[in-house]
Formats: sequence, structure tokens, C-alpha cells
Amino acid sequence: MSQVDQSPRAANLAGHAPPGPGELSPYEIAQHYFGVAAERLGLPDDVRTVVGTAYREVQVQIPIRRADGLIHVYSGYRVQHNGARGPYKGGIRYHPEVDLDEVRALAALMSWKTAIVDIPFGGAKGGVNVPAGDCTQGELQLITRSFIDKISKVLGPTRDIPAPDVNTNAQTMAWMMDQYGKLNGYTPAIVTGKPIALGGSLGREAATGRGVIMCFTEAAPALGLTPQDTRVVVQGFGNVGSWAARIVQDMGATIVGVSDAYGAVQSEAGIDCHALHDHIAQGGRLVDFLGVDVITPDELLSLDCEVLIPAALGGLIHGGNADRIRAKAIIEGANGPTTPAADAILHDKGVFIVPDVLANAGGVVVSYFEWVQNLQHFRWTEEDVNQRLGTIMSRAYGEVAARSVADAVTMRTAAFEVGIERVVEAARTRGYI
Ligand code: GLU
Repeated sequence: MSQVDQSPRAANLAGHAPPGPGELSPYEIAQHYFGVAAERLGLPDDVRTVVGTAYREVQVQIPIRRADGLIHVYSGYRVQHNGARGPYKGGIRYHPEVDLDEVRALAALMSWKTAIVDIPFGGAKGGVNVPAGDCTQGELQLITRSFIDKISKVLGPTRDIPAPDVNTNAQTMAWMMDQYGKLNGYTPAIVTGKPIALGGSLGREAATGRGVIMCFTEAAPALGLTPQDTRVVVQGFGNVGSWAARIVQDMGATIVGVSDAYGAVQSEAGIDCHALHDHIAQGGRLVDFLGVDVITPDELLSLDCEVLIPAALGGLIHGGNADRIRAKAIIEGANGPTTPAADAILHDKGVFIVPDVLANAGGVVVSYFEWVQNLQHFRWTEEDVNQRLGTIMSRAYGEVAARSVADAVTMRTAAFEVGIERVVEAARTRGYI
């Protein structure tokens, strides 16, 4: 059994909204933020090209006969962006809108993310353009095994280590480990985010949401906030959003708005996110939860609150809605939630943003712990995992915040500066550039 939420609602929270006319694609967005920091670092053009573009991009065909009797042909991608600091690392997502542009963007973000939290990995990402919510578990298993067969040559515990992402979970990782094992022998360190019974790490499931809230705790004093006087809005109630909501609620915050792929709700008195999580896990709909008012997803973004946690689609905070955001701070649980146009508007409004490459790094940090435990054939306690996660997140937050002050730049630019600088240094000392 998987230890993560496998409800179709959680499963559909996902991906990246396709760019509208005139909007930047996910890769263009990632390259924009890279370019701003690379410019500030004074990186020469040739170095910029080496560290800004992917090392390897694999695209494979995944033909599967589904329950309707037809062969459906999906595309699977694995992009290895930069491996100067260690084996490639990053999740695999299942979503109909997955394409090479999006996977490329997310792979680059992983290179900066692993460098910002200073764990010995490079950056990669994978995806299959399958509508996971419409597939049976049997179909998902077939797709997963076929995908791993086709990319296994570029994987390995010292080469490239996948993990869960949008619409994939511990069960998917179990199939991946098993399929890789059939080809190469028992190798638990080939994927992270596995079920506990198969060598997964305690604390991994909650890690991304926990890291998001650790960033809130770090940011709070400078914002004049304590959890007890903080109203939080969570956009997306999948793995990241629901854990972040439950953890910050337990600290005393009031969750005043929540959305998922099917709707949004609010309550000034506060939404009990433990009860909401149970309600959804039992097949209930978010909008049918008792004691809340149904609102539109657009209204959710305009709710009066101190903290907004985007934890759903990429690109959902854009030039058309950023102006209506009333939060003091945004902690980015999703990858790529804020377009450059929105980023500029929010900066002008004085909204403090903890960027994705720092805020959601808790997941890959505990993936690192899982990999270490697998290599040592040893299990750490959950307290140990959480405490070590806290040490790393706090150090990374402090380094990025200090850089932001020293260079008088946003936390996003500072984070990219720190990440890119570390990747460039590794590439340089290896003799690549
Ligand atoms: N998919 C997660 C992310 O975007 C986790 C990656 C990992 O653990 O390798 O950071």
C-alpha cells in the first residue's frame, strides 16, 4: 500500500496550466529567472549556455492497450539538466499537459533547488502525458513499468534517481523500483519516495509540506507574524498543500481558504484541515465539506489573509490576477506557480515571496535522506529525519535571506544566485567549463 493520498482529487491537482496567448511557457519562465540571476552574477555567455541548458533529454513512446480495447500512445520524458554536483535527481509526473518544455523547465529548477539546499545531487525531471485520474491502477502500473524499461539505461543510484511528483506517489515508486530491479537486481536507492515497507523514509510523505511551513517559520519574525495571528490560504490540497495546511494549523494558524482541482471554499472561522483531509480521503468532495462557503478559484486568491501557499498548478499566479492578492507573504509549495509578470506586480505591492526552489525543497531533502538510508541499509527515526530537515531548511533559508539583503534583490533572485553559483563552481572545478 502506498502511504500517500491516492484519491483522484489529490491526483488531479496538477501540472502546469498551459500558457495562454502572449504568456511565457514553463521553460521560458524558468529561463527568465535564470537569466536575471546569471546577469547579476556576470556569467559569460558560454558558461550560461553550459549550465542553463540540459545535458540529456530522453523522449520515449509508451503504447498501452487500455480498458477500452484501444492502444493509447503516450510520450514519456526524462530530462537530466545538470549533474556537476552529483547524480541527477527529480520527480516524475503524470499529467496530460506534460511536454518537453515543461519537463525541461522543471529539470532546471531541480538543479538550482538541490544546490540551494546543498545536497549532493544534480537536477532532473520526468513525466508522461497520461491522464492519470482516468486510468485504472492496472493501467498506471503498465505505463510505469514500460516507461522504466525504456529509460532504465540512463537511471541508476549513482546516475539518476527519480521520485514522486504530480499524480505519482509511493505506489508508483514501488513499481519503478521493482521494474528496475527486474532488469538490474534489487536496488532500493534507484528511486525515493517509496512505501515505508520497501525502504521508504519515515517523514518523506510530509516533507515537502513540512519544508514549506519551516520557511514560513523562518520568515515570520521579519513579517511580524506568529502562527496564532496568521490566516492562511492554501491553493491545491494534494500532498504538498494538505500537509502544509495540517502542519501550520497544528501550530495555531487559521486556514481561511482551500481549493482543489474541483473547487474552492472559505471560512473566516477556519477550516479544520485534518477533518477536510479525512473527508477527501473517504471520497468526499472539497465543496461538500461541512461549515464552509463555496467560492470560485479566483475569489480564493483575493481572500484576506497573511499567507498564501500555492500548492497546485504551475503558472496559476499570473499578470491577470496578481494584483488582487492580499496576502503579505507567498510561500511557493508548487513548482513554478508565479509568472515573471506576476512576480513584478507582487514585488511592487510589497508581497514577500519565498520561491519554489527554496520553499518546496523539503521533499528532495528527505529524498536525499532516503537515498542515504538505502545506501547504508539503515533506518532513521521520524524525529531524526524531521530534525535534520529543519537544520538544512533553516541553513538554506538563512543563506538565501542573507544574500537577498546583501545584494538588495528578491528572495527569488537571491536563491537563483546561490544555486547557480554552486553549480557553476562544481562544473568549473570538475573542468567542464
Ligand atoms: N518532485 C519533488 C520536487 O519537485 C521531489 C523531487 C525528489 O525528491 O527528487 O522537488
